[in-house]
Amino acid sequence: MFDVCVVGLGPAGRGLAHRCTTAGLRVAVVDPRPDRLWAPTYGAWTDELPDWVPSQVVAVEVAKPIVYTPNLRIVDRPYAMLDKAELFKTLTLDGATVYADRAVDITPDTVRLAGGTEIAARVVIDARGLPAPGKRPAAWAHGIFVDADVAAPFVPPGECVLIDWRLQNGTTNADPPSFLYAVPIGDGTVLFEEVCQGIPGGLSQTELRRRVISRLEANGVHLNGEEEAESCHYALDQAPPPIRHKGEVFPYGARGGLMHPCTGYSAAHSLRMADRVVEAILSDTDPARALWTTRARLVYWMRMRGLAGIGRLTNDQSAATFDSFFRAPLRQQQALLSEHEDVVGIGSVLVNTVHHTWPFRWRFDLVGWTHRKRWVRN
Ligand SMILES: Cc1cc2nc3c(=O)[nH]c(=O)nc-3n(C[C@H](O)[C@H](O)[C@H](O)COP(=O)(O)OP(=O)(O)OC[C@H]3O[C@@H](n4cnc5c(N)ncnc54)[C@H](O)[C@@H]3O)c2cc1C
Repeated sequence: MFDVCVVGLGPAGRGLAHRCTTAGLRVAVVDPRPDRLWAPTYGAWTDELPDWVPSQVVAVEVAKPIVYTPNLRIVDRPYAMLDKAELFKTLTLDGATVYADRAVDITPDTVRLAGGTEIAARVVIDARGLPAPGKRPAAWAHGIFVDADVAAPFVPPGECVLIDWRLQNGTTNADPPSFLYAVPIGDGTVLFEEVCQGIPGGLSQTELRRRVISRLEANGVHLNGEEEAESCHYALDQAPPPIRHKGEVFPYGARGGLMHPCTGYSAAHSLRMADRVVEAILSDTDPARALWTTRARLVYWMRMRGLAGIGRLTNDQSAATFDSFFRAPLRQQQALLSEHEDVVGIGSVLVNTVHHTWPFRWRFDLVGWTHRKRWVRN
């Protein structure tokens, strides 16, 4: 009998299992490939990382990231690209029993593995990541890793472009919008990623790739065709566990409502929330209740409103809305982007963003009074 069994060793499950072992709990972990390094390149606001994560986990830090709306906005908040190998090493599982297998049946106190083993635990945590997105609101992205020297005319050393809404991607305002995310990742390359979020049906990898290449050409960056690429398509609306949850399997990480509906990020937030779950387990209280307070649920609900709003705008409207958002005080921006329970902050920034979006009539699209189904295809 273990205290905790964590199923899934992505950053969320591994981080939580690590903190459980550090707290002296008897821990079992399950993943078909527990030693495999994660595939995505993770970015986060530096202040989102918990204190117990050492600084070498940050591969690159940019003090003042840039946003184009199309005005140039400078965000006075450091942004980090994580060294995932270093993070993986930090999240040790010393003392945990590791099962390299796939869980096929998960109940509140047992986990059955494909190989037939049954693990009993006081608390079972489901950190298996997201189920397939199907037709749910999702993030689609295509990224190309370009040599930093080649990328310098667009993203000089020490800089990054978090969001670029300039219409340099070969589209017009009549096309479903996407933005560029361009960050140095710490291995001598810069990742240029075209991202489409919340648009019903999304965009194909071919279209996203075409858009990145247009932007690179427009900014004097020419590819040789040998560059590595990454792609992604995942759901943004994986909800927290329901309120009447006691006695159920506890879902954590992207699987348990920690995937941010507007940014598509969850890695740093899952690390930051781990200790709250550990405390609940130690004190034999419901971890779902400890993590998903009324305020946290309200924040999640407001972020979902944000996702719905983003998904019906044109490129020009998105640019205007983001411009309004990035003019808000930093604390309000942080409430929407990162804070788990800052209801006042997120409420203020949402109202502020709508209020300062110009021209006036675009606000009706943003709140869904007009053009509610703009990008819905029959
Ligand atoms: C290309 C790309 C770029 C991204 N960039 C960022 C970023 O910059 N910042 C960010 O925060 N997020 C980013 N994301 C989103 C990111 O994937 C998630 O935030 C993060 O990986 C979620 O972590 P997780 O541990 O909850 O789930 P996952 O990382 O999905 O991990 C789930 C784990 O569960 C295991 N598992 C699945 N089924 C079973 C089973 N039946 N039995 C046992 N184990 C199982 C899997 O093997 C896996 O190890 C990106 C995603 C992609 C695809």
